[in-house]
Amino acid sequence: MPGNRARILVLHPVLGILDYRVPQGMHVEPGSIVVVPIGPRQYAGVVWEPERLPTEEVGDNRLRNLLAVADAPPIPASVRRLVEWTADYYLSPPSAVLAMALRTSAAFENAPTIVEYRATGTVPDRLTPQRAQALERIGERQGLVRELATIAEVSDAVIRGLVKTGAIEAVVVDTETPYPLPDPNFGPPDLSADQADAASILRQAVGAESFQPFLLDGVTGSGKTEVYFEAIAAALAAGKQTLVLLPEIALTEPFLTRFAKRFGCEPVAWHSGLRTSQRRRAWRAIASGEAMVTVGARSALFLPYPNLGLIVVDEAHETSFKQEDGVHYHARDVAVMRGRFEQCPVILASATPAIETRHQVELGRYEELKLPSRFGAAEMPRIEAIDLIQEPPERGRWLAPRLVKALEETLARGEQSLLFLNRRGYAPLTLCRNCGHRFQCPNCTAWMVEHRLLRRLSCHHCGHTIPAPSLCPECKSEDTLVACGPGVERIADEVAALFPDARTAIVTSDTLWSPAKAAEFVARMEHGAIDIVIGTQLVTKGYHFPNLTLVGVVDADLGLDGGDLRAAERTFQQIMQVSGRAGRGEKPGTVYIQTHSPEARVMQALISGDAEAFYAAETEARREAEAPPFGRYAAIIVSSEDKAAAEETARMIGRAAPQLAEMHVYGPAPAPLAMLRGRHRFRLLVHARRSFDVQDVIRDWLGGLSWSAKVRVAVDVDPYSFV
Ligand SMILES: [Zn+2]
Ligand SMILES: [Zn+2]
Repeated sequence: MPGNRARILVLHPVLGILDYRVPQGMHVEPGSIVVVPIGPRQYAGVVWEPERLPTEEVGDNRLRNLLAVADAPPIPASVRRLVEWTADYYLSPPSAVLAMALRTSAAFENAPTIVEYRATGTVPDRLTPQRAQALERIGERQGLVRELATIAEVSDAVIRGLVKTGAIEAVVVDTETPYPLPDPNFGPPDLSADQADAASILRQAVGAESFQPFLLDGVTGSGKTEVYFEAIAAALAAGKQTLVLLPEIALTEPFLTRFAKRFGCEPVAWHSGLRTSQRRRAWRAIASGEAMVTVGARSALFLPYPNLGLIVVDEAHETSFKQEDGVHYHARDVAVMRGRFEQCPVILASATPAIETRHQVELGRYEELKLPSRFGAAEMPRIEAIDLIQEPPERGRWLAPRLVKALEETLARGEQSLLFLNRRGYAPLTLCRNCGHRFQCPNCTAWMVEHRLLRRLSCHHCGHTIPAPSLCPECKSEDTLVACGPGVERIADEVAALFPDARTAIVTSDTLWSPAKAAEFVARMEHGAIDIVIGTQLVTKGYHFPNLTLVGVVDADLGLDGGDLRAAERTFQQIMQVSGRAGRGEKPGTVYIQTHSPEARVMQALISGDAEAFYAAETEARREAEAPPFGRYAAIIVSSEDKAAAEETARMIGRAAPQLAEMHVYGPAPAPLAMLRGRHRFRLLVHARRSFDVQDVIRDWLGGLSWSAKVRVAVDVDPYSFV
């Protein structure tokens, strides 16, 4: 390619790879972030090595000029290789993957300051209900007009109107304020012998500056975080950046606090809850190499760290590391690939490692570091099953007498309890006693979930919400609607009826929707202001409450429904994690598991604590079924608002399926969630041998077909969701 031409990967969903002319006087190199014209519009893109992204050659006379080079460091070669690998593996457009590295306009706009707005405390003369709502919801918060409008649920015009009255004022925020530097020697820890051994191996691996994956496998409460903090200290001392991935934003807050205790200041946080100004500041610090430690959700994985020396994936077994829309990547697996491209160690930390990860250890590809016991005086909790058939709760209740008694005793001792039920809201189904009408979401194959606190029914798949009905829409009778089954709100009602004086808290994504809310909950727990927590999977991990000694699993069978290949494993992990919240201090913990099938293998494993036997049996079953990690799946989801079009396309794809001995195609069949967000869905499931290049076959297979613009075809390689 001649010197005045450049191949650009453009952030355009369809066009992607295009050639441009480099105008006289402009200097670009592979990785440079540039602005290019497409038609009348401008797009950001990155200069790429032409041999790595082949495209149709365009004659010199048809080339348009690059418009500008961004005043930002070039995207490193390791990130360009990661983008290529991810696009290839997950059958996604490279531009969609690149978009994850350039998640902010800071990448291509050099504006050191940004104007934000905040309330001044003055009340405008004309206080309309909208204005009152805006000022109340905004409170102390600050942000762009659009961000404040979103928080307040009003239009931009309402916010601008408030600016005119002086109730809201502009503030200039410097997005180049440097971050404090974590100090590796700030708060050295007091490690157990096991912890010290593991830490020393990790410190050496960081020093070796080469790719090496580790499984840090420690029981809950064993102090895995303190161990990988030592690896971070080593990276800091060597002047290298670290990335720590967490499965959920809600876990960021407790992490920041722990980190600050060890290193004297907070790390740089990256997640979807950041304001534009925070995102800009973080991105620029990361891309310049100034941000030494970044903690974030999976989207932090693709950022352009120029000098990465360590990657940590905490709670690495969590399925929320799998992205379920856009590029269907698994952050745990991509993190390992990034470590390979960066030539740095990768630590996967978990108390309940995934079977796929354990298999990598068995194959000798990952080194396992074990922490077999809890830190200090803490013992593992005692786990007992409650057979709901032998010891049923009272009619209309959900807590068995033995669990109620344990709650009573725990309260009397002044200790804390946790009731776990992975179901938000009050009841998962509302039906009419008179005519049998059930409230179903109009957009999804799903029931509407009652949220009594908000007096609403809402669909947990698409968010469709209606006010709680007072009469049946079908037979019009009043007082005939009944709630079926429990959600956390209903358990909270039962607890309130049993123990009217107990102080309770419901913990779900509805109540802990921001890092600040999470911090508030942690503070209340730590100060003993809560006796009984009722929560979903949000409370199963990361938290350390020494006075919490009782855990009750309200419905251990819940996760076994649906029958996907990881159901038993996921149930085991989830209950082990929630059990891990009990007895983390000096007081011993007890866990009660309510189940209808105490003899099931997963329940037996939980009660006996024999994780190894459970994993061995599960692994064997997967081997026989040639399920992952011994075989591979890929799902092809065909969806459309037009049911006939979706079905027809799915059949056409099915008919064109290649006939190969190493691969079998099931379907098309209606997906278990046959309708989602108003789209009808059909699924083909591809099952292949481990060593088989299923991506290559699917690329050829789908590449030769075409379908109507109203049909969407998505490929999910290594799917985790089978709905
Ligand atoms: Zn009815
Ligand atoms: Zn819905």
